[in-house]
This record gives sequence, structure tokens and C-alpha cells, in this order.
Amino acid sequence: MKYKSDIEIAREASKKPIHEIGAKLGIPSASLVPYGHDKAKLSQDFIRSVQGRENGKLILVTAINPTPAGEGKTTTTVGLGDGLNRIGKNAAICIREASLGPCFGMKGGAAGGGHAQVVPMEEMNLHFTGDFHAITSAHNLLSAMIDNHIYWGNTLEIDVRRVVWRRVIDMNDRALRDIMTSLGGVPNGFPRQTGFDITVASEVMAILCLANDLEDLQNRLGEIIVAYRRDRSPVYCRDIKADGAMTVLLKDAMQPNLVQTLENSPAFVHGGPFANIAHGCNSAIATTTALKLADYVVTEAGFGADLGAEKFMNIKCRKAGIAPDAVVIVATVRAMKMNGGVAKADLGPENVEAVQQGCPNLGRHIANVKSFGVPVVVAINHFVTDTDAEIQAVQAYVAQQGSEAILSRHWEHGSAGSEALARKVVELAESGMSHFAPLYPDNMPLFQKIETIAKQIYHADEVLADHKIRAQLAEWEKAGYGHLPICMAKTQYSFTTDPSRRGAPTGHSVPVREVRLSAGAGFVVVICGEIMTMPGLPRVPSAEAIMLNTQGQIEGLF
Ligand code: ADP
Ligand code: MG
Repeated sequence: MKYKSDIEIAREASKKPIHEIGAKLGIPSASLVPYGHDKAKLSQDFIRSVQGRENGKLILVTAINPTPAGEGKTTTTVGLGDGLNRIGKNAAICIREASLGPCFGMKGGAAGGGHAQVVPMEEMNLHFTGDFHAITSAHNLLSAMIDNHIYWGNTLEIDVRRVVWRRVIDMNDRALRDIMTSLGGVPNGFPRQTGFDITVASEVMAILCLANDLEDLQNRLGEIIVAYRRDRSPVYCRDIKADGAMTVLLKDAMQPNLVQTLENSPAFVHGGPFANIAHGCNSAIATTTALKLADYVVTEAGFGADLGAEKFMNIKCRKAGIAPDAVVIVATVRAMKMNGGVAKADLGPENVEAVQQGCPNLGRHIANVKSFGVPVVVAINHFVTDTDAEIQAVQAYVAQQGSEAILSRHWEHGSAGSEALARKVVELAESGMSHFAPLYPDNMPLFQKIETIAKQIYHADEVLADHKIRAQLAEWEKAGYGHLPICMAKTQYSFTTDPSRRGAPTGHSVPVREVRLSAGAGFVVVICGEIMTMPGLPRVPSAEAIMLNTQGQIEGLF
């Protein structure tokens, strides 16, 4: 059987005008700021006006450790949202916006897949409503103002060797990773070494995704540390006086975007911070607003549950004052096989034994998520190549762990395939079983917070950090940053810091290479291993295959 590509399915969607989608959530047309016929932003006034309402149920979709086989968190988020609407709940989904860099680099869209997609997928994967361009501009305005301040006499006494604020662009471009700026003599300033990160790695992105409103946004922007003086004292964005103008540039980008799924369910697509040096979830304002409008809000966290769900709970939920009522862990038969040692090329034939050998990875994620006090269901995202025996092996394993694994065929059948999952999620969410608590209290010392995550979530024996790193953390505690949560940056492929160690390894240690303070976003980034904040393009970038066909339609976008 031949299956249509994601873009072919998306093109055939029967979209409703966006005001009809808004009406499903009780949003008056006047409170939608239309961007064409099928996208709209939600007005700040409307967002303010619903604050007094009760919250709907919040469902987090997370996953096992990713493998090259693909897990389908976004696809499952969309499929579950449609499934909930199908069984009569009023549901909305909340996911991240896409970055142009990976879109032109490696195959794989950000709008879901098969019959569980958000549309218009072409626009969502490209410029969309311009939010990322606004974030790029706001970030680079601050960069320009820092160099300008130095040029005009540097009254703040910035040490030009210690400017930590770089520049950003929404493109995978390794040529910009490390560069010299201000070459060309006196009129061009003081030459210094700096570089570009991809826009999604900007602290401005993380701030936009955690801010409650425009006032909070401006305050957090002001708190960004941009450089240090020779005496090592920090210089803030506020000292450069860029926070006001940056907020102006971000005014519209702070409004959540409303689009729809293939089945016309409301979908908020807003913000998209990196999942390593940032927390990897859509904006808090989109999620908290959706909770005021829908009975059920289904949202996704990046990477596997060891990173994505952990940060969702400890960073986003803590800051936004929300808590999940149930968590869905996405697993696939293929990924279980890969965790069981099968190579990607050999995933085709049935291999129940490998599935069984890979299951402990899933088991550990189940136990970890339960430790936050929230009920868990496993969604087996069905691939048409899965065999019954393989599916039963996953279900039997999960039953042994005291949970249930539901087979979901949303990719192939849309909401008709995800009804069972939707019913189970409703049962868990309405059970009142959720007694969410973050993993560590605000007042725990920073190093102990890192140890708590490493031991309880990664099952590591110890955290290794040299004197310099411990002293840095102690210094930040003295400066009043000790209450911040931790944002772990490590490989998404393993519970350990070694991407090749699949399954559920024990007896490992977590070496901390570097710590960074994101004072505006409000977390301490702990870097374990190589973390790339400016990706490069692969040998054959997907951009080579992207083009307009003779009807003016986009081809090659997956
Ligand atoms: P994630 O959010 O976990 O990164 P996505 O939901 O974006 O994953 O899916 C990644 C890719 O895998 C998409 O191109 C999607 O079309 C494909 N995919 C997801 N689920 C299935 C499935 N059940 N069968 C076939 N392809 C799938
Ligand atoms: Mg995704």
C-alpha cells in the first residue's frame, strides 16, 4: 500500500476559516488578529479578560529517549487532541513553532505527520506569523546596542573580552559559529571574537516562552546578563537600556498563534526554545490561556522524558503555576527495537526479543514521570510495519510496570485511530490521581538540585564537577540566583551523557562541563557534553529538494 506524504495530506485538508476555529473556544472574532484566512493571533486584551476562569485539564505528551527511528510526539499530541474532540471533549493542543534551520537541514517537519497534522503546515514550517523574525530582531538590537555602547566611550566599562551576548539568525550556518567582528579600523569599533547562535537558542526565545505578560517580558529582558566588567561584575540588558525597545519589537510575537488540525481542532502554535540550553516547550502564555478556554489542553515537551518532561515539570510548571493532570509517554515498537540493540537498517523484520530487550528504557521513563505524582499512560504510536506480537510485547511489559499501553493509529486514521487513547487519558485526568510536585524545592542549593536530577531521573551514581564549577554556582547563590531551577543540557539519546548508551543504564556519572546563568529566563544551564547552539547543514541539505511546482505549490517540505 502506498501512503501519501505529509504535505500531500496537508494540501487536501478542508480548513475552516480561523474565526470558526476561535468560536469553538469562545473567542470572539474581534479578539482574533487574523494573519490571512487560516492563522490568527490572540489579542492581549482577550488573554487578560479570561484570567479569572477555571483551568481545564492539562495533558503532557512526552516520550522515551529519541532514536533515529522517530517517535512521533507532535503527531501523537495532534492525534490525541483530535481524539478528545471526537469523544465530545472540548480540546485544544499547544505545540512549538518550527525553526527554519532544521527545516532546510534535515528532513522532518514540526507540524505532526500523516493524518495527525496542524495546518497550514507549509507556513508553520516557514515564516508563519513572523514571531521568530521578531525574536531575531530583538536579540540583535541588543547586540548592536552593546557594540554601540562600547564604540561611544564604554561608560559602563564593559570588558570587550567578556561580552557574552552573541548574535542570532534562524538558519543552520556553521560559518557563523565563531567570527571576528568590527574589523576595518577605527570607525568600525573594537575588533572582538564572537559568533552567532540559531534563533531558537536565544535567551530572548526562552524569556518569551516563560513570561506571563508584556510587563513580565520587559522585566526579564532587563535581567539578561550581556557582559562582565574587568572586576567580573555583570552588565545587564537594563544597563544598555535595550529592554524597552526589545519589548516593542516583541509585542506581537507575545500573542499566541491560533491555527487548526486536519480535523479542525484548535491548535496554539507559539514559541520554540531549544530543548537543551533552554526548556523546550511552547510558550507559557499559550498553555495558560488555552487552559482557560478548553476542557482539555494537550501539549508536548521536547526530546525524551528525562529532559523534556523533567524541564516541563521543574521549569515551566513551576514558573507558570500549572500542573499536568495526566502524562502520555509515546513509545514505538521501532524505537524499542533500537533500544534493544537493532540497527536502523534492520528494523523491518519482526523481532519480539529485541522489543523486550529495549523496554527497560520505557520502564524507567514511566517510573520517573510517576515520581512527579502524575498518572501515566503509554501511547504506542503505531507504524504500519509493527506486528501484533511486537505490540503485545510492549503492552505486556507496560502492564508489569503497573501502567497501560494503548495502541494508537492516529497517523493512519486520524481521530478514529486515537479514540481509545483519548478515553484512557480522560479516565486518568478525571480520576483526581494527580498530586503534582516538582522534584526539588526552590531553596535547595544549586549543586544539590543537579544531583537530584542526575540521581533520580538519570539513575546516575554521582555528579562530577571541578572546583571552578562549584565555585561559580556558589557565587551565583551569593548574588541571589540560588532559588532558580536547573536547565540540564545533555544528549537526548541516553539517560547518560554518552549518546550511544541506550536502554536503562546504571552505574554512570554525570560530568558537568560548564554552567551558564540565564538570568532573564530564570534558570541555571548545566552543560554535560557537547552542546551545539549553531547547527550546520548536512552534506545534502533538504533545501536542495525544496521548490515551487508549476501550480505554485511548495514541494519537498516533507
Ligand atoms: P517528534 O515530535 O517526536 O519529534 P514527530 O511527531 O514530529 O516526532 O514525527 C517525526 C516524523 O515521523 C514525522 O515526519 C512524522 O510524519 C513521522 N511519523 C510519526 N508517527 C508516525 C507513524 N505512526 N508512522 C509513520 N510515520 C510517522
Ligand atoms: Mg515534536
